[in-house]
This record gives sequence, structure tokens and C-alpha cells, in this order.
Amino acid sequence: MANEQNKIELQVVTPERHILSEDVESVEMPGKDGYLGILPGHAPLLTEMGFGILTYRKGSEIRSLTVLGGYAEVLPQRVIVLAEAAERIEEIDRQRAQAALDRAKANLPGANATEADWDATNAAIARATVRLEAAGKGSGAGATASREMEHSNA
Ligand code: ATP
Repeated sequence: MANEQNKIELQVVTPERHILSEDVESVEMPGKDGYLGILPGHAPLLTEMGFGILTYRKGSEIRSLTVLGGYAEVLPQRVIVLAEAAERIEEIDRQRAQAALDRAKANLPGANATEADWDATNAAIARATVRLEAAGKGSGAGATASREMEHSNA
């Protein structure tokens, strides 16, 4: 019932696959400049995504997934996230994320490193850290959006 006025149709896709398509009541997602809280009727906007945990509420359940870069379009009754990478919590391979974090930290750019080298290292560390944080939250139950939500129906 995507057209109900009190719902948001949330879609999350990556270049590789379709992750999620659900009718939800609210979304909190990691924009490039901080978390955005979205309720039905939100003003349209386009935003670049940061690396973080997207949380949405569906009925009494709060669920989470990782979102690692990309873009999002917000419309009053729809949110479309085109993520560079995204994973449902239960898909996250914790050991792989820990290995990625250890590898990035063990291979920090040297004295002649460029800004691009540091950007790549920092991004790898950020991706792994978000995955480990998300995996630590379990299936998302109880992962109530604790961050302040900038709810806006503007
Ligand atoms: P790695 O070095 O382990 O590949 P990465 O941060 O370089 O990590 P990405 O380039 O962000 O990986 O992702 C490549 C693909 O692998 C994406 O489809 C992403 O969802 C998936 N992926 C990466 N790390 C994990 C993980 N820890 N658990 C599950 N899927 C992962």
C-alpha cells in the first residue's frame, strides 16, 4: 500500500543488486553531512550519502542496514537510496570487515602518499567500522534510532 499518505516506500539498491523495497513509517539515514530523519510528506531533496547505518521503522519493528556512499532521492511518499554498497545486518561478514579494518590500518599511506591514498584508506576504515558497528547491533531489533532525528514534514 505504497500510496498511503502515512507511509514511505523505501527502496535501496546497489550497482550489484536490489537490497530492499518496503513500505515503512520512518527512515533515518546517513547523509554526507549527517543523519537525516524522514517522515511521510517530507519535502523533496537529493542528497549524497555518507557511510553509516540506515534505520527504518515498519510497524513495531525497527530494522537496520548499512549504506556505504552513493545518493538518495527523497520524495513525500518515497525514498530511493542508490548506494555504492549496502548490506542487510545478517549478511555482514564480521570477520571480513575486521580483516579489512586490520589491513587498512596496517597499510597506512607512507610519506609520499597523495590525498587520494589517504581518502582511500580512510574510506576503507570507515566502511569496515560501519560494518562492525552494524553487525554488533544484531538483527536490528532494539536498535531504536537513538540519534536525534530531524523530523520534518516541511
Ligand atoms: P573488502 O576489502 O573486504 O572487499 P571493501 O570495503 O573494500 O571490503 P566494498 O568495496 O565496500 O568492500 O564492497 C564490495 C562488495 O563486497 C559489496 O557488494 C559489499 O556489499 C560486499 N562486502 C564488503 N565487505 C563485506 C562484509 N564484511 N560483509 C558482507 N559483504 C561485504
